[in-house]
Amino acid sequence: MNVTTLPKPPRVGLVSLGCPKNLVDSERIMTKLRADGYDMSPDYAGADVVLVNTCGFLDSAKEESLEAIGEAIAENGRVVVTGCMGKEADVIRERFPDVLAITGAHEYEQVVGAVHEAAPMPANAFLNLVPESGLKLTPRHYSYLKISEGCNHRCAFCIIPHLRGDLVSRRPDAVLREAEKLVAAGTKELLVISQDTSAYGVDIRHQPRPWKGEEVRAHMTDLSRELGKLGAWVRLHYVYPYPHVNDVIPLMAEGLVLPYLDIPFQHASPEVLRRMRRPANDAKVLQRIRSWREQVPDLSIRSSFVVGFPGETEQDFAYLLNWLEEAQLDRVGAFKFEPVEGAPATSMNDQVPADLKQERYEAVMALSARISAEKLAAKVGTDVDVLIDRVDDDGGATGRSKADAPEIDGEVHLRDAGGLNPGDIVSVRVEEADEHDLYAVPLGIQAA
Ligand code: SF4
Repeated sequence: MNVTTLPKPPRVGLVSLGCPKNLVDSERIMTKLRADGYDMSPDYAGADVVLVNTCGFLDSAKEESLEAIGEAIAENGRVVVTGCMGKEADVIRERFPDVLAITGAHEYEQVVGAVHEAAPMPANAFLNLVPESGLKLTPRHYSYLKISEGCNHRCAFCIIPHLRGDLVSRRPDAVLREAEKLVAAGTKELLVISQDTSAYGVDIRHQPRPWKGEEVRAHMTDLSRELGKLGAWVRLHYVYPYPHVNDVIPLMAEGLVLPYLDIPFQHASPEVLRRMRRPANDAKVLQRIRSWREQVPDLSIRSSFVVGFPGETEQDFAYLLNWLEEAQLDRVGAFKFEPVEGAPATSMNDQVPADLKQERYEAVMALSARISAEKLAAKVGTDVDVLIDRVDDDGGATGRSKADAPEIDGEVHLRDAGGLNPGDIVSVRVEEADEHDLYAVPLGIQAA
């Protein structure tokens, strides 16, 4: 009889100080660690790592927290600190330089990540009910990677900041660890998402974290570069055109990040943008788009626009159409302004009548369809790489080029694609094009 010996999971000791709110935080952290497979240790000696959840309410509570950290270091030596004293990391580090990690109150993901780092779970198919890469709702070959939650802006048509709060960025090492697991599990394309990708790390002052022997800042450019080294396609969504976006363009030229930017411009008229209270409302954006395209000629830009925003005049709308003609964006989505309960724009004067909104919507869609058709026609006869999404029973397959994000952009339909599988990346020759899609034939299959 074959007997499989299961590895023992690591054990976590806990010292929880302070008020009942802190106790609830400790319970949440331990619940998550237990769900991840960790065992609890009732004493210092049996623990692989000790978690000290501190209180910093009064000076006496701080002193008690520091004493508890000191005791855990002396008794066990492998200590992760969390809780209110996390705000005073310098004080803790000065007194206890050997502490493995310090996180603040409510930073559940960070503290759980620090425990995983300090005492990694042995990989074991018998113990793990959930794959290392987590459970996914997307196909195996592409994954969304959320880098932050919430938003610091207050656009007049949007209630997301009310629903989700201000920007909270994830630690760059936590994002990279997740991305690495996804790639190891078969992801070929990482889709970076947030409410405002360009603002990533602002809330944590772009604090660097160790990653593979180096420091990586919580900054869009650094994160993109490191993601690019994982060997998957990296696609950036919800990028506001702040000046530092210019620094990501060379990463595209180097092939680390896909030559693709999803920038939600929403409008072009300076007056409408002002009324919308849009961030990164830069009058020189056309100039910058030209400069990006000079550096990365195959750059694809997707954007969305709102027509019929309150107060949008004929001149504003004409400005938008001219701007779109100039900008030659590759993919455009348009929406008619819809009042949302709780959004300031809902109660603004000069609401645009429904039939005018419809007229403007159709004009934007017609213009962008024409531009898209012209741009795609220019690709006929060229070779592009395609990531296969699905295959059919008749020897055909459908995938996406570097210019196409799943669900929102066009597709590439392949003939004579027998033998291909979802997740393969294949070079194809483009034979035809329409307003949104390309039609092509494979040249050869790259290793999946
Ligand atoms: S629309 Fe504006 S407020 Fe809403 S999530 Fe985007 S940037 Fe933030």
